[in-house]
Amino acid sequence: MSKQDYYELLGVSKQADAAALKKAYRKLAMQHHPDRNPGDKSAESKFKELGEAYEVLKDGDKRAAYDRYGHAAFEGGMGGGGQSRGGGFDFSDIFEEFFGGGGGGRRRRGGGDAGRGGDLRFNLEISLEDAFAGKNDTITVPGHEACDACHGTGAEAGTQPEICGGCGGAGKVRATQGFFMVERTCPTCNGAGQVISSPCKPCRGAGKIQKDKTLNVNVPQGVEDGTRIRLAGEGEPGMAGAPDGDLYIFLSITPHSLFKRDGDMLFCQVPIPMVTAALGGEIEVPNLGGGRAKVKIPAGSQSGRQFRLRGKGMPELHGGYKGDMILEAIVETPVNLSKQQKELLREFADKTDAEVNPRTAGFFSKAKELWEDLTD
Ligand SMILES: [Zn+2]
Ligand SMILES: [Zn+2]
Repeated sequence: MSKQDYYELLGVSKQADAAALKKAYRKLAMQHHPDRNPGDKSAESKFKELGEAYEVLKDGDKRAAYDRYGHAAFEGGMGGGGQSRGGGFDFSDIFEEFFGGGGGGRRRRGGGDAGRGGDLRFNLEISLEDAFAGKNDTITVPGHEACDACHGTGAEAGTQPEICGGCGGAGKVRATQGFFMVERTCPTCNGAGQVISSPCKPCRGAGKIQKDKTLNVNVPQGVEDGTRIRLAGEGEPGMAGAPDGDLYIFLSITPHSLFKRDGDMLFCQVPIPMVTAALGGEIEVPNLGGGRAKVKIPAGSQSGRQFRLRGKGMPELHGGYKGDMILEAIVETPVNLSKQQKELLREFADKTDAEVNPRTAGFFSKAKELWEDLTD
């Protein structure tokens, strides 16, 4: 299978500048994002291809190599330089593309990724009621603060970090690999750009010491199970001045004892006493948002009959419009009958005819036809 041309894939000309590339990529990536196309494998692979194409074209060196040699420039040879990413495609960049910008205190990650702190995952379980109403929660996660002893420099008191001789302070070194130049994290300073000859003892040269921190998590109304919330810069600390990682909160919603949710719809199976189902009446059901809803049960309701309560379902994300609640009646056959109740029911049964139980009567008249056919 031959690979599609990166420019074609992104729908841009070979002369497209960085802004045009970014714009085209953003638009297409949004369109094919797995969150928007759950379960769609072709959208997922398209999304990955787009990421790969953009990863190459946004980088001057890689783009030049691609223009010259096409896909062959990246076949084999890649990934030998201690890079852990598969085809040069870094999923975390996608998050940056989608959620980056606009947020307070968010940094651009421009180039200097070496030494960046790792991302952290925190699993937060909430109830369906919380997903309905939204919730402000606090969580405790491992955090860090500047080391007092070295004031965050990582160098022992009285000494200073020195500029790394291996990279001249850039944190990266260039090397030829295959057809083109690659940039690698400087092995001498691990990308920090500086070296510490006598590290601070309390923090072992990191400049930071561990201290748990409490974070506020705003769970918006209407969140779905599996939603991720990203708290930029709340992950592991970066090495000596490199950016901190991000914290991803993975939300899961505890199954509810009464309600099942599907998007903005809520489903609830409600048992209805046989007599209520036969004579008609009214039942009450709880609302997720508090209070109760009254539902009229028409006489002669059968098991499986559904009742729609408009606007009593889940809110859309961040509130506003609400979906519907669907109640499904389950007619309950009475059990543990007293002697007197049994007699009443027998008396009732004696007086019933085909009109009282039309489905039963219909079933057996069809069955009889079948038996007659079979015995012929
Ligand atoms: Zn220190
Ligand atoms: Zn260095």
